[in-house]
Amino acid sequence: MKIKGTMIDLSQEIYTGMPVYPGHAKTVIWEHMSHEESKQMIGTGFSYHASGIMMCDHGPTHIDSISHLSEDPNAPSVDEIPLQHCVTSAICLDMSDVGVQTQFGPDKIESELERWNLDIRPGDTLLFYTGHFDKYYGKPEYSTHQPGLTREATEYIIDKGVVNFGVDNTSPDMFLDKTYPCHMVCREREVTYVHCTSFEDSKRNGIPHTRHCDSSRR
Ligand SMILES: [Zn+2]
Repeated sequence: MKIKGTMIDLSQEIYTGMPVYPGHAKTVIWEHMSHEESKQMIGTGFSYHASGIMMCDHGPTHIDSISHLSEDPNAPSVDEIPLQHCVTSAICLDMSDVGVQTQFGPDKIESELERWNLDIRPGDTLLFYTGHFDKYYGKPEYSTHQPGLTREATEYIIDKGVVNFGVDNTSPDMFLDKTYPCHMVCREREVTYVHCTSFEDSKRNGIPHTRHCDSSRR
């Protein structure tokens, strides 16, 4: 696959005590071997440093596998996600005017596409910039007050050909809706999504509102 465009880092910084979804394991980083310790152990003057990292598989920026969503023992695990679904053409829509603890549907997605003269193309990743990371990261609301996609919104983007999508908060579902409509559609349609992202790098590169890494059309 030939890709023209800018590679954008969506990952959050990983550190001890970073915010995680309620009930998930905390992130802990510790010094496992210091230079002083290894120098003493080796005895030749050479030394190295090594850290230990413990974290939830749903802690820092990650993609949810189908096996995370489905009880089916044959559901694909994270290593079975096609890499072609992780490096794709992409657009990013600005949903930052959607209120906390609310859900948005296809009408909101369509109006943003129209407003910025964008379209969803088969094979795209669709990123939703909700502004939640910017407003609430480090505050209690970060993990629980995010907006979410409705079932219809999720079906709409998948029907348009999206192979991956993402949000800048801890879940593509509104925390209050325990039917998890977005997760349920992803389970049914076997589409994955990235979350707990940071859009710091993406904003430096001009998104939202632009098409990125157009792999086939230039
Ligand atoms: Zn997850």
